Amino acid sequence: KKILDAQALADDNDAELTLRPQYLSEYIGQKEIKDQLSVYLKAAKQRKEALDHVLLFGPPGLGKTTLAVVIANEMGANIKTTSGPAIEKAGDLVALLNELEAGDILFIDEIHRLPKSVEEVLYSAMEDFYVDIVVGQGETAHAIHFPLPPFTLIGATTRAGMLSAPLRDRFGIVAHMRFYPVSDLQLIARRSAEIFNTSIAASGAAELALRSRGTPRIVNRLLKRVRDFAQVAGKSEIDQQTVNSALNKLQVDGCGLDETDLKYLKTLIQQYKGGPAGVNALASNIGEDTETVEEMIEPYLLQIGFIQRTPRGRQATEAAYEHLHIPYQTGLQA
Ligand code: ATP
Repeated sequence: KKILDAQALADDNDAELTLRPQYLSEYIGQKEIKDQLSVYLKAAKQRKEALDHVLLFGPPGLGKTTLAVVIANEMGANIKTTSGPAIEKAGDLVALLNELEAGDILFIDEIHRLPKSVEEVLYSAMEDFYVDIVVGQGETAHAIHFPLPPFTLIGATTRAGMLSAPLRDRFGIVAHMRFYPVSDLQLIARRSAEIFNTSIAASGAAELALRSRGTPRIVNRLLKRVRDFAQVAGKSEIDQQTVNSALNKLQVDGCGLDETDLKYLKTLIQQYKGGPAGVNALASNIGEDTETVEEMIEPYLLQIGFIQRTPRGRQATEAAYEHLHIPYQTGLQA
C-alpha cells in the first residue's frame, strides 16, 4: 500500500503504540483543542463527574485515537475502543455499555458508520444513561429499562457532516482536528526519533516535516523508513540529505505528494485547462472513486493551496502549476 496513505497500515501498529503520547503535555500541536480540553478535564475532575461526550473530527492520522487515550489517562479512567462498522446490532452496543464502570470512556472510531438501529440506542445512553432493551416477541414483547453508569462517549469521524443531527447534538464537546503545521510535525519527528533512539538533525526533521502531508502518522512512518536508509548508509545522524535521498527513492516529492496526487493535478491542469472540473469526472479520469478523491487526495491539496473548490468544480491554483513546472497564464485558465 501507499507510503503516504494517512490511514493506518498493518505495519504501523507496533511503532504507533510506542510513539503514542499518553498525556496532554506530550500531545504536540492542536493547541486550541488542548486548551479547551484541559479546562473541561479539570472541571469534570473537580466535580468528580464523567467528562461530557466528545466528538473528534478530522482527516485520518491526525491523532484522534491518541487524543481519546490521552483523555482517558488524564481522567484516570478506563477506555474501551471500538468502531462504527464493528457494532452490527443494538445488542453488541448494549454488551459494550454493560461493561462500563462510572467515569469510563467508550471510544467509537468511524462513528458515522454505525447502523441506524445502533445509533438510536446511543441517544438515551448518551443523554440520560439508560437503554431500553426489548425482550420477548409479539404479545409478550416488552421493554426493560436498563440504567448505565455515567460514562463518556468519544466519537471520531473524518467528516462531521456525515453524522446525523440527533447524534451530533448529543456531544457537549466538539473538536475539529486540523492538519499540523510544519513546525509541529518537526517536533513530532524529533520526539519520535528520540523514542527510537535515533539522532536527527534539525534540517532532517524540517525536511521530513515538509513531506508528511500535515499528518503525524505519516511523519512517523517516513521516519522509520528514513532511519533504515541512514543506518544502511552508515550515517550516525539523519540529516536533510539523507531524508531527501531516501524520500526521493520512495517517490515522495518535496511537498509530500505521490503519484496519485500528481496524476490528479496533471489531469486537472492538462485535460481540464486547470478547471473548474467536476469531482466525478476528475475521479473517473484518474481511475479512482469519488470518495477516495474527496477523502484522501483533495483535503491535503486544498490545505497546501494547490486546488480550490468552486461552485463549478475544482480549480488548480498558480502554486500547483509552479509545482509541476507548467507555465501559468492568467486569463487562459477557467
Ligand atoms: P485514524 O482515525 O486513522 O486511526 P487517528 O486520527 O486516530 O487516525 P492516531 O492513531 O491517533 O490517528 O495517530 C497516529 C499516530 O500519530 C499515533 O500513534 C501517534 O504516534 C502519532 N500522533 C498523532 N497525534 C500526535 C500528536 N499530537 N503528537 C505526537 N504524536 C502524535
